[in-house]
Amino acid sequence: MSLLIQDLHATLEDGTEILKGVSLEIPKGEVHAIMGPNGSGKSTLSKVIAGHEGYVVTGGSVTLDGEDVFGWSIDERSRAGIFLAFQYPSEVPGVSNANFIRAALQARLPQGQEIDAVAYYKNLYSKMDILEIDRKFTARAVNEGFSGGEKKRNEILQLMMLEPTFAILDETDSGLDIDALKIVAKGVNAMRSPDRGFLLITHYQRLLDHIAPDYVHVMAEGRIVRSGGPELALELEKEGYEFLKSPESA
Ligand code: ADP
Ligand code: MG
Repeated sequence: MSLLIQDLHATLEDGTEILKGVSLEIPKGEVHAIMGPNGSGKSTLSKVIAGHEGYVVTGGSVTLDGEDVFGWSIDERSRAGIFLAFQYPSEVPGVSNANFIRAALQARLPQGQEIDAVAYYKNLYSKMDILEIDRKFTARAVNEGFSGGEKKRNEILQLMMLEPTFAILDETDSGLDIDALKIVAKGVNAMRSPDRGFLLITHYQRLLDHIAPDYVHVMAEGRIVRSGGPELALELEKEGYEFLKSPESA
């Protein structure tokens, strides 16, 4: 049981190749981190998996538990349990946070079955308490006027409520102060489970001080160029991405 990415190639709509053969297997129960310089294709990888517009898959495959992810619409991917928290979460004006999450949960229920409102709010509030999110927050429109930290906490709240099989968190640490980062990490760590895989995308090591990954991969110029254990993240923090420029990696 895993998310399996095999020799994935993808371009922008104008034909510019961004992903140049990415291969990666993330079994359920594991947390994999992808690090790498800006512009290396990390966000493109996550968006291609989630099914965002603007990218064309030109080769390779992504399967979830053996099923072809590219055969599914964005909505089907989400219902199959793939969750993507955005690097720059978008605003959904006019839809409250509480209703947004409720609608997403409702969409997964069989026809005719309704979410129990009392149980829903009880669950929502208990997760909000873990993430230290104010109760007023439920009535506010999704991401509207949120600070960077609030948006990130909201993403983790969605993660905790939707309980995906597979979560991709793209730069969930960017723009967070250390306290907010710890709260976000607490939420993610609470969601770690043998039934759930995580892909954490981050430019910096600091998130990985709080969410210990099982494996670390380095992406550069549209490929995974190195993989290792958690020590690789520490090494990158010290040495930077200079090694990517050395002749043997060319
Ligand atoms: P990373 O997340 O590693 O910083 P990205 O996946 O965001 O990298 O970007 C990889 C490359 O693709 C960059 O050169 C970026 O400018 C380009 N790119 C990605 N998405 C788009 C887009 N929608 N339009 C134009 N260029 C894009
Ligand atoms: Mg990015």
